[in-house]
Amino acid sequence: MFVDCHVHLDPYSDAEVGEVLQRAGDVGVHAVISAGTTIDSSRRSVELSAKFPGLFSGVGIHPMDIKSPFTETTYQQLRGMATENEKVLVVSEVGLDFMEGAPDRADQYHAFREQIRLARDLQLPIVFHSREAHEESFRILREERAYEVGGVMHYFQGDREVAQKVTDLGFYVSLARPLQRLPDLQAAAAEIPLANIVLETDATPQPFKSKRENWTEPRHVRDVAELLAQLQSVSVEEVESATTRNIRNVLGPGWDTVQSYLDGVPSPN
Ligand SMILES: [Zn+2]
Repeated sequence: MFVDCHVHLDPYSDAEVGEVLQRAGDVGVHAVISAGTTIDSSRRSVELSAKFPGLFSGVGIHPMDIKSPFTETTYQQLRGMATENEKVLVVSEVGLDFMEGAPDRADQYHAFREQIRLARDLQLPIVFHSREAHEESFRILREERAYEVGGVMHYFQGDREVAQKVTDLGFYVSLARPLQRLPDLQAAAAEIPLANIVLETDATPQPFKSKRENWTEPRHVRDVAELLAQLQSVSVEEVESATTRNIRNVLGPGWDTVQSYLDGVPSPN
Protein backbone atom coordinates (compact mmCIF):
# COMPACT_ATOMS: atom_id res chain seq x y z
CA MET A 1 0.00 0.00 0.00
CA PHE A 2 1.11 3.51 -0.81
CA VAL A 3 0.21 6.68 1.08
CA ASP A 4 -0.02 10.11 -0.56
CA CYS A 5 0.86 12.28 2.42
CA HIS A 6 0.04 15.65 0.88
CA VAL A 7 -2.68 16.76 -1.53
CA HIS A 8 -5.33 19.46 -1.82
CA LEU A 9 -8.58 17.79 -2.79
CA ASP A 10 -10.89 20.34 -1.16
CA PRO A 11 -11.55 22.30 -4.39
CA TYR A 12 -13.05 19.19 -6.04
CA SER A 13 -16.71 18.21 -5.77
CA ASP A 14 -17.55 15.22 -3.60
CA ALA A 15 -18.17 13.12 -6.71
CA GLU A 16 -14.82 14.07 -8.21
CA VAL A 17 -13.00 13.25 -4.97
CA GLY A 18 -14.61 9.82 -5.07
CA GLU A 19 -13.31 9.29 -8.60
CA VAL A 20 -9.82 10.57 -7.79
CA LEU A 21 -9.60 8.23 -4.78
CA GLN A 22 -10.90 5.34 -6.85
CA ARG A 23 -8.17 5.84 -9.45
CA ALA A 24 -5.60 6.05 -6.63
CA GLY A 25 -6.87 2.85 -5.03
CA ASP A 26 -6.67 1.09 -8.39
CA VAL A 27 -2.87 1.47 -8.33
CA GLY A 28 -2.43 0.76 -4.63
CA VAL A 29 -2.58 4.28 -3.17
CA HIS A 30 -5.07 3.60 -0.40
CA ALA A 31 -4.52 6.48 2.03
CA VAL A 32 -4.45 10.15 1.08
CA ILE A 33 -3.94 13.11 3.40
CA SER A 34 -5.49 16.36 2.18
CA ALA A 35 -4.13 19.62 3.58
CA GLY A 36 -5.97 22.80 4.45
CA THR A 37 -4.75 26.20 3.28
CA THR A 38 -7.31 28.47 4.98
CA ILE A 39 -9.96 28.00 7.66
CA ASP A 40 -12.57 27.30 4.98
CA SER A 41 -10.40 24.86 3.05
CA SER A 42 -9.39 23.10 6.27
CA ARG A 43 -13.06 22.73 7.15
CA ARG A 44 -13.91 21.42 3.68
CA SER A 45 -10.99 19.00 3.81
CA VAL A 46 -12.11 17.68 7.21
CA GLU A 47 -15.69 17.29 5.95
CA LEU A 48 -14.50 15.40 2.87
CA SER A 49 -12.41 13.07 5.00
CA ALA A 50 -15.55 12.11 6.90
CA LYS A 51 -17.10 10.92 3.62
CA PHE A 52 -14.31 8.72 2.25
CA PRO A 53 -12.60 5.96 4.27
CA GLY A 54 -9.18 6.41 2.61
CA LEU A 55 -9.14 10.18 2.90
CA PHE A 56 -7.57 11.90 5.91
CA SER A 57 -7.00 15.55 6.64
CA GLY A 58 -4.71 18.26 7.88
CA VAL A 59 -5.70 21.64 9.24
CA GLY A 60 -3.62 24.76 8.74
CA ILE A 61 -3.12 28.11 7.09
CA HIS A 62 -0.74 28.13 4.11
CA PRO A 63 1.96 30.83 4.18
CA MET A 64 0.63 32.25 0.89
CA ASP A 65 -2.76 32.65 2.58
CA ILE A 66 -1.57 34.67 5.57
CA LYS A 67 -3.49 37.77 4.50
CA SER A 68 -3.78 39.17 8.02
CA PRO A 69 -2.10 38.41 11.36
CA PHE A 70 -2.79 34.92 12.70
CA THR A 71 -5.11 35.35 15.68
CA GLU A 72 -6.09 33.37 18.76
CA THR A 73 -9.50 32.86 17.09
CA THR A 74 -7.83 31.18 14.12
CA TYR A 75 -5.78 29.04 16.48
CA GLN A 76 -8.91 27.91 18.32
CA GLN A 77 -10.81 27.24 15.07
CA LEU A 78 -8.04 24.98 13.79
CA ARG A 79 -7.69 23.35 17.18
CA GLY A 80 -11.42 22.68 17.36
CA MET A 81 -11.47 21.00 13.95
CA ALA A 82 -8.54 18.79 14.91
CA THR A 83 -9.88 17.73 18.29
CA GLU A 84 -13.41 17.08 17.06
CA ASN A 85 -12.41 14.92 14.08
CA GLU A 86 -10.28 11.83 14.47
CA LYS A 87 -9.35 11.85 10.78
CA VAL A 88 -7.31 15.04 11.25
CA LEU A 89 -3.82 13.56 11.37
CA VAL A 90 -1.48 16.49 10.73
CA VAL A 91 -1.08 20.26 10.97
CA SER A 92 -0.79 21.20 7.30
CA GLU A 93 -0.07 23.22 5.27
CA VAL A 94 2.11 25.63 7.19
CA GLY A 95 5.54 27.15 6.61
CA LEU A 96 7.37 30.05 5.03
CA ASP A 97 7.33 31.40 1.48
CA PHE A 98 9.76 34.15 0.50
CA MET A 99 8.87 34.29 -3.16
CA GLU A 100 8.33 37.77 -4.54
CA GLY A 101 4.81 38.93 -3.78
CA ALA A 102 4.39 36.51 -0.84
CA PRO A 103 2.59 37.81 2.26
CA ASP A 104 4.28 39.99 4.87
CA ARG A 105 7.18 38.07 6.38
CA ALA A 106 6.56 39.09 9.98
CA ASP A 107 3.00 37.77 9.65
CA GLN A 108 4.32 34.54 8.12
CA TYR A 109 6.82 33.97 10.92
CA HIS A 110 4.16 34.57 13.52
CA ALA A 111 1.64 32.22 11.85
CA PHE A 112 4.29 29.51 11.41
CA ARG A 113 5.35 29.72 15.07
CA GLU A 114 1.75 29.67 16.24
CA GLN A 115 0.92 26.65 14.11
CA ILE A 116 3.96 24.74 15.34
CA ARG A 117 2.69 25.53 18.84
CA LEU A 118 -0.70 24.19 17.77
CA ALA A 119 0.87 20.97 16.49
CA ARG A 120 2.70 20.45 19.78
CA ASP A 121 -0.45 21.28 21.70
CA LEU A 122 -2.38 18.67 19.66
CA GLN A 123 0.54 16.22 19.47
CA LEU A 124 0.15 16.08 15.69
CA PRO A 125 3.00 16.01 13.16
CA ILE A 126 3.63 18.98 10.86
CA VAL A 127 3.69 19.04 7.06
CA PHE A 128 5.60 22.16 6.14
CA HIS A 129 6.12 24.22 3.02
CA SER A 130 9.32 26.13 2.36
CA ARG A 131 10.00 28.16 -0.76
CA GLU A 132 13.21 30.16 -0.89
CA ALA A 133 13.16 30.00 2.91
CA HIS A 134 14.81 26.74 3.95
CA GLU A 135 17.30 28.04 6.52
CA GLU A 136 14.68 30.21 8.16
CA SER A 137 12.09 27.43 8.14
CA PHE A 138 14.57 25.09 9.82
CA ARG A 139 15.51 27.73 12.39
CA ILE A 140 11.88 28.36 13.34
CA LEU A 141 11.15 24.62 13.53
CA ARG A 142 14.14 24.20 15.84
CA GLU A 143 13.31 27.20 18.01
CA GLU A 144 9.70 26.09 18.40
CA ARG A 145 10.76 22.51 19.21
CA ALA A 146 8.93 21.00 16.27
CA TYR A 147 11.04 17.87 16.73
CA GLU A 148 8.70 16.96 19.58
CA VAL A 149 6.06 16.09 16.98
CA GLY A 150 8.14 15.69 13.82
CA GLY A 151 6.64 15.61 10.37
CA VAL A 152 7.43 16.14 6.73
CA MET A 153 9.09 18.73 4.50
CA HIS A 154 6.70 18.63 1.62
CA TYR A 155 7.48 18.88 -2.10
CA PHE A 156 11.17 18.39 -1.45
CA GLN A 157 13.42 19.77 -4.17
CA GLY A 158 16.66 20.27 -2.25
CA ASP A 159 20.00 18.54 -2.44
CA ARG A 160 21.51 15.84 -0.27
CA GLU A 161 22.74 18.40 2.26
CA VAL A 162 19.30 19.95 2.70
CA ALA A 163 17.82 16.47 3.08
CA GLN A 164 20.31 15.78 5.87
CA LYS A 165 19.23 18.96 7.67
CA VAL A 166 15.60 17.87 7.41
CA THR A 167 16.48 14.48 8.87
CA ASP A 168 18.49 16.12 11.65
CA LEU A 169 15.41 18.15 12.52
CA GLY A 170 13.48 14.92 13.07
CA PHE A 171 11.56 15.30 9.81
CA TYR A 172 11.19 13.28 6.60
CA VAL A 173 11.60 14.56 3.05
CA SER A 174 8.56 14.15 0.86
CA LEU A 175 9.16 13.53 -2.83
CA ALA A 176 6.62 14.46 -5.46
CA ARG A 177 6.44 14.67 -9.24
CA PRO A 178 9.26 17.19 -9.65
CA LEU A 179 11.42 14.05 -9.27
CA GLN A 180 10.27 13.09 -12.76
CA ARG A 181 11.63 16.23 -14.40
CA LEU A 182 14.56 17.55 -12.30
CA PRO A 183 17.90 15.80 -12.91
CA ASP A 184 19.48 17.40 -9.82
CA LEU A 185 16.67 16.12 -7.65
CA GLN A 186 17.05 12.67 -9.17
CA ALA A 187 20.74 12.72 -8.29
CA ALA A 188 19.92 13.74 -4.71
CA ALA A 189 17.10 11.20 -4.39
CA ALA A 190 19.44 8.41 -5.45
CA GLU A 191 21.50 9.14 -2.32
CA ILE A 192 18.93 10.06 0.31
CA PRO A 193 18.41 7.04 2.57
CA LEU A 194 15.07 5.40 1.86
CA ALA A 195 14.48 5.45 5.62
CA ASN A 196 14.09 9.25 5.41
CA ILE A 197 11.67 9.51 2.48
CA VAL A 198 7.89 9.71 2.17
CA LEU A 199 5.78 10.28 -0.95
CA GLU A 200 3.15 12.77 -2.04
CA THR A 201 1.71 14.44 -5.13
CA ASP A 202 0.46 17.85 -3.85
CA ALA A 203 -2.44 17.07 -6.21
CA THR A 204 -4.95 19.83 -6.76
CA PRO A 205 -7.20 20.72 -9.73
CA GLN A 206 -5.05 21.94 -12.65
CA PRO A 207 -7.44 23.60 -15.11
CA PHE A 208 -4.45 25.19 -16.88
CA LYS A 209 -3.66 21.71 -18.24
CA SER A 210 -6.05 21.21 -21.12
CA LYS A 211 -6.19 17.43 -20.86
CA ARG A 212 -7.91 16.27 -17.70
CA GLU A 213 -5.91 13.03 -17.67
CA ASN A 214 -2.72 15.06 -17.27
CA TRP A 215 -3.81 16.58 -13.97
CA THR A 216 -1.68 15.38 -11.08
CA GLU A 217 -3.58 12.99 -8.85
CA PRO A 218 -2.70 10.77 -5.87
CA ARG A 219 -2.42 7.85 -8.30
CA HIS A 220 0.86 9.40 -9.48
CA VAL A 221 2.51 8.45 -6.18
CA ARG A 222 3.11 5.12 -7.85
CA ASP A 223 5.04 6.77 -10.69
CA VAL A 224 7.22 8.66 -8.21
CA ALA A 225 7.81 5.40 -6.32
CA GLU A 226 8.76 3.55 -9.50
CA LEU A 227 11.26 6.20 -10.46
CA LEU A 228 12.70 6.31 -6.95
CA ALA A 229 13.11 2.53 -7.03
CA GLN A 230 15.01 2.81 -10.29
CA LEU A 231 17.24 5.60 -8.94
CA GLN A 232 18.05 3.63 -5.81
CA SER A 233 18.36 0.28 -7.60
CA VAL A 234 15.78 -1.36 -5.36
CA SER A 235 12.40 -2.89 -6.10
CA VAL A 236 9.25 -0.80 -6.14
CA GLU A 237 7.94 -3.04 -3.35
CA GLU A 238 10.87 -1.99 -1.24
CA VAL A 239 10.08 1.68 -1.84
CA GLU A 240 6.45 0.96 -1.08
CA SER A 241 7.10 -0.74 2.24
CA ALA A 242 9.79 1.75 3.34
CA THR A 243 7.80 4.88 2.55
CA THR A 244 4.66 3.47 4.14
CA ARG A 245 6.62 2.50 7.25
CA ASN A 246 8.07 6.02 7.32
CA ILE A 247 4.73 7.80 7.13
CA ARG A 248 3.49 5.43 9.80
CA ASN A 249 6.37 6.65 11.99
CA VAL A 250 5.44 10.25 11.21
CA LEU A 251 1.79 9.75 12.11
CA GLY A 252 2.41 7.81 15.32
CA PRO A 253 -0.94 7.07 16.96
CA GLY A 254 -2.64 8.57 13.88
CA TRP A 255 -1.59 5.48 11.99
CA ASP A 256 -4.02 3.41 14.07
CA THR A 257 -6.78 5.66 12.75
CA VAL A 258 -5.60 5.10 9.18
CA GLN A 259 -5.46 1.38 9.76
CA SER A 260 -8.93 1.21 11.25
CA TYR A 261 -10.47 3.03 8.26
CA LEU A 262 -8.54 0.93 5.78
CA ASP A 263 -9.45 -2.40 7.26
CA GLY A 264 -12.38 -2.52 4.85
CA VAL A 265 -10.10 -2.14 1.82
CA PRO A 266 -9.74 -5.45 -0.05
CA SER A 267 -6.17 -6.64 -0.25
CA PRO A 268 -4.83 -6.97 -3.82
CA ASN A 269 -4.15 -10.67 -3.22
ZN1 LIG B 1 0.46 21.73 -0.80
